[in-house]
Amino acid sequence: MENEFDFPVEPYRIKVVEAIKLLPREKREEIIQQAHFNIFNIRAEDVFIDLLTDSGTAAMSDNQWAGVMLGDESYAGCKNYFNFVESVQHIFGFKHVIPVHQGRVAENLLFSVAVKSGDFVPNNTHFDTTRANVMHKGGTPVDLIIREGRDPSSIHPFKGNMDVAALEDFIITHGKAKIPLVMMTITNNTAAGQPVSMENIRSASTICRKHGIPFFFDAARFAENCWFIHEREPGYRDKQPIEIAREMFSYADGCTMSAKKDGLANMGGFIALNDDDLEQQVTRLLILIEGFRTYGGLSGRDLEAVARGIRESLDPDYLRFRTAQIKYLGDKLVEKGVPVIQPAGGHAVFVDAGAMFPHIPASDYPGQALTVAIYREGGIRAVEIGGLMFAQTDPETGREIAPPLELVRLAIPRRVYTNSHLDYVAHVCGRIAEKKRQLRGFEIVSQTKYLRHFTMKLREKTQAGIGVGS
Ligand SMILES: *Cc1c(COP(=O)(O)O)cnc(C)c1O
Repeated sequence: MENEFDFPVEPYRIKVVEAIKLLPREKREEIIQQAHFNIFNIRAEDVFIDLLTDSGTAAMSDNQWAGVMLGDESYAGCKNYFNFVESVQHIFGFKHVIPVHQGRVAENLLFSVAVKSGDFVPNNTHFDTTRANVMHKGGTPVDLIIREGRDPSSIHPFKGNMDVAALEDFIITHGKAKIPLVMMTITNNTAAGQPVSMENIRSASTICRKHGIPFFFDAARFAENCWFIHEREPGYRDKQPIEIAREMFSYADGCTMSAKKDGLANMGGFIALNDDDLEQQVTRLLILIEGFRTYGGLSGRDLEAVARGIRESLDPDYLRFRTAQIKYLGDKLVEKGVPVIQPAGGHAVFVDAGAMFPHIPASDYPGQALTVAIYREGGIRAVEIGGLMFAQTDPETGREIAPPLELVRLAIPRRVYTNSHLDYVAHVCGRIAEKKRQLRGFEIVSQTKYLRHFTMKLREKTQAGIGVGS
């Protein structure tokens, strides 16, 4: 469905609609204040365009909904489990497939059996739940992304890549005994959804195999990553996404997967791996915390939705549109004077709030200032990916060390919004850019130790002469 015009056209039509509503400005103001300026506390129905996440928010296809009706809710051995395993093996090729209800349980199970206190887990960049799960087992997550991946203006085609020389150095310095596995996140969600090249995957895999360390993918957005390889990497133009996926997974020993992303499902995930012993240990723990081996915390109908969705995610027409739609929003924002991380990622556009609001210091969370402004201005929900989510604490002074970038993620749910919704989003962000001097920073009122951004309360900083929501 390649078209000769240079704008993306949805390769599907709408069969069911869900009404959405833009509340009046005064009402939005009241809501954001009641939520203590934490957008996780806002009711979804009070949001007009919800770009909080692309996780679990996909529109399922008619084919998936038909599969839902074929859900077999038997406790053991339901037929949807076998369809699930067949789909995963068809694409991923690993020997064992263990369903779980979402990605973080896959991480918890894998790290529970593999990671000991004092261990290190290198990754290109850990996702927040992956980071938290490694730390929860007493391990240290280590991010080894390439230098270009930290530079918001670099146009490297594979900014999600791992610094493989740094990986090898790290292994040599710390020793294989302290590194139970190496992970590679495709696409690199935390690093602006940037892809990883096949060449980089191959090199990382070679290093791991040379040192006898298992190599795992965090595969949540594997299909989008495959499309970027198809588009950008020499030698892959004539390969189908499925062929690229198979080659990619052939370099690994297993993966964790959140099927709420490229599974095109609203719930689901799995661990897939080759090692028999590891499979046994994970399955034992699975029964304790998720459920029996043939459902892993999912209903039969959920298993079927994933079994069908994961195949659809590799459809070239879908992937071409998906990545083009993200780029479309990125380009519109740039036109409106909003700084975004270049090039656009696979699932989201990341606005550089630090660059947009130079008058708000990192310690006042400029990303949160933009997140709140987007809701106030347009009823749009986005998420801060900056100090609130990723600040580290200096062990000596106890002070917060801000991450290198203060970003706001506009994640695009799969097959949900049309390009005219995205025009509206760009318009709203453009209005904020015009009056950016009026925006103020935030301070934290209360927080928790892990994943604090989900539950924290905030207060807007006061500055004389500036009205709220003006
Ligand atoms: C979403 C995500 C996870 C966690 O998956 P959940 O299904 O939300 O538990 C892990 N890694 C990456 C890269 C993700 O995007």
